[in-house]
Amino acid sequence: MNAEIIAVGSELLTPQRLDTNSLYLTNQLNALGIEVAMKTVVGDHRERLQAAVSGAVQRSEVVVITGGLGPTEDDLTREAVAAALGRDLLFSEEILDAIEQRFRRLARPMAAINRRQAYVITGAEVLPNPNGTAPGLWLEHDGTLLMMLPGPPREMKPLFDDHCLPRLQARLPRMVIRVRTLRVAGMPESEVDQRIAPVYTRYTNPVTTILAAPNDIQIHFRARCETEQEADALLEEVSAQVEPLLGERIYTRKDQPMESRVGELLSEAGKTVAVAESCTGGLIAQRLTAIPGSSTYFVGGFVTYQESAKTSWLGISPELIAAHTVVSEAVALAMAEAARAQSGADYALSTTGVAGPGGGTEQAPVGTVWIALASPQGSVARKYRFMGERERVRTLASQNALDLLRVELERISIALN
Ligand code: ATP
Repeated sequence: MNAEIIAVGSELLTPQRLDTNSLYLTNQLNALGIEVAMKTVVGDHRERLQAAVSGAVQRSEVVVITGGLGPTEDDLTREAVAAALGRDLLFSEEILDAIEQRFRRLARPMAAINRRQAYVITGAEVLPNPNGTAPGLWLEHDGTLLMMLPGPPREMKPLFDDHCLPRLQARLPRMVIRVRTLRVAGMPESEVDQRIAPVYTRYTNPVTTILAAPNDIQIHFRARCETEQEADALLEEVSAQVEPLLGERIYTRKDQPMESRVGELLSEAGKTVAVAESCTGGLIAQRLTAIPGSSTYFVGGFVTYQESAKTSWLGISPELIAAHTVVSEAVALAMAEAARAQSGADYALSTTGVAGPGGGTEQAPVGTVWIALASPQGSVARKYRFMGERERVRTLASQNALDLLRVELERISIALN
C-alpha cells in the first residue's frame, strides 16, 4: 500500500520552518508496512492545494494532509479538499459546541472566526482533538483513505496515533514488521555498500536502508511477514550473509550509538575509562556521560586545550612537546598514559589535533588528529586526517577514539569467552 503526505503552510516554504510532521508520519506508516511514495509541501494557496490533493487521491491509497485547519482566512485545507473531491462543506453544531467548551475551559473568549473550524466535509468522520481547536477529519473516497490533521506536531501526533493508526490497521492484512540494525564504523559508506549490495539487492523483503553519518553507518533491515518467526528468520538469513562481509567493523547489532556500545562493553568487563582531550574539548566525555549509568565505568577526564594545561595538569614535559610538536604521536601517548595513571582508570583515551579552520601547519594540516589509547596491555596511537569542517573533524575524532577502545574491549571479551 502506498501513501502520500501533503504538508500545508506557507511557513514551511520559508528558511525558518521545516516540515517535520512528515518524518513522524513516515515512521508510523512504515511501521504498518505502508511505504511513503511522495511528499508535497504546499503554501496556503487554494488552487495549488486543491491540485495537490486531486493528484494525490488519484495516485495513492493513503493520503495524509497536515496543517491549514486553523481558523484564519489562510487556513484552506477543508475548502481545498472539499473542492478537490467535489464534496460539500457542512456546518456542524456539535463541533462548534466542542470548540466553545474548550474556550470556556481555558476561560478565553472565542473569536467569531473559530466558527470556520466547525465545517466538515460531507461523509467525513470527525476526529476529536483534545490538544487544540481544530478537529481532524477522516474520509474514504473512491478507494483512497484520506486524513486531515492539524499542523502543530503536539496536536497532529496524538490524533494520528489515536485515531488514524487503528483505522489504518483495521484495513490492512495482519502483518508484523521486524527490524534489525547493524552499525558500522571505520569503513566508508561506499565500501560498505559495495560489499553488501550483492546480498541485500537479492531481497525485496527485508527492505534494506543505509543511513550514513560521520564514521557511523547504519544498516536497517525491515522484514514484513505474517508471523514474527517468519520475519525473524528472513532477517537472520540476510544478516548472516552480510555480517561476515563487514566483520569487526560492525560495532553493534542494536540501534545504539558508539558511546552506548562502549559503555556496555566496559560494564560487561567491569573496567573503567578516563579521557584527556585536546581538540575534542570534552566531546568524548560528553558522549560517554550521555549514557545513563555511565558513572559505573567513566572515571572522569581532562580537557587540556592549551599547552600549559597539558604540562601542568597532565605533567607532560615542555621538552617533549618542543621536540615533537603538540599534535604528535608522542604527546597523544603521553596524554593518554598520564590520564590513565592519574585517574586510576583501566583505560584512557586522548586526542590532540587541528580541528580548523585555522591552525594548520605543513606537518599537521587542518584535520590531522592523533588519538591514543592507554590500556593495561600498553599504549597505542593512531594518526588520522579528517576532511571537512571543524565540527565534523571533532565528531570524527571522538567517534574514532571511542572505536579504538571498542575494538580493544571486543578483543578482550572474545579472548575471555
Ligand atoms: P491551528 O489550528 O493551530 O492553526 P493548523 O492546522 O492551521 O492548526 P498551521 O496553522 O498550518 O496548523 O500550523 C501551525 C503551526 O504548526 C506552524 O506554525 C508550525 O509551527 C507547525 N506546523 C505546521 N505544519 C507543520 C509540519 N508539517 N511540520 C512541523 N511543524 C508544522
